[in-house]
Amino acid sequence: MTDRFTTARERMVLEQLVRRGISDTRVLDAMREVPRHLFVEDAQQARAYGDHPLPISGDQTISQPLVVAAMTQELQLQGNERVLEIGTGSGYQAAVLSRLCSRVYTVERINILLASARKVFDQLHYYNILSRLDDGTLGWQEHAPYDAIIVTAGGPEIPEPLVAQLADPGRMIIPVGDREVQELHLLRKEDGNVVVSRLESVRFVSLIGEHGWNND
Ligand code: SAH
Repeated sequence: MTDRFTTARERMVLEQLVRRGISDTRVLDAMREVPRHLFVEDAQQARAYGDHPLPISGDQTISQPLVVAAMTQELQLQGNERVLEIGTGSGYQAAVLSRLCSRVYTVERINILLASARKVFDQLHYYNILSRLDDGTLGWQEHAPYDAIIVTAGGPEIPEPLVAQLADPGRMIIPVGDREVQELHLLRKEDGNVVVSRLESVRFVSLIGEHGWNND
């Protein structure tokens, strides 16, 4: 898609992603394609391709492009997967995933965010994204198991229902830590075993729910 931000998107991919080691060409192409400016408020559109997170409604944030790319790359998507995302927020991460797998299931707990993300999915004809209003720390049992799971809010631990709903083999990426700072955890399920490795430090908004933080 060509629009007034095509050049800004290309510069984002080269300067923020390729230069810092994102090498999965499918991920890079998806981020060249998805119009990130449509997922932020009108007043923020000019900043949509900057090297930083941006505020969205409900005191939440859309992650920095590099964080979206790095987390997506860890899932190693080939194209046929069914992916569960917890924390739809603006919808940007789900939109990127939708270009890389067969179907995205995304769960959000704040209604206004979900409503506006759904509008953008429709506008872009991204029809392989299914979304639901709920506490995502419980997963989305109906469509389990998922080949990959991505959690885009930070919790105190890896929610057990998500581990249970991950396919074997399967990969999950999730920020775990305290309310201010977390470490990305990569969980791999293979031959009935679960292995967790710790990656870089990140700052996400809180994962709130039964297997997350309390709402206060
Ligand atoms: N992936 C989003 C990032 C949104 S910020 C994007 O690309 O814009 C994290 C989101 O997680 C917020 O919208 C927040 O409301 C949501 N969230 C927090 N706890 C949640 C839970 N238990 N279930 C579903 N969504 C949750």
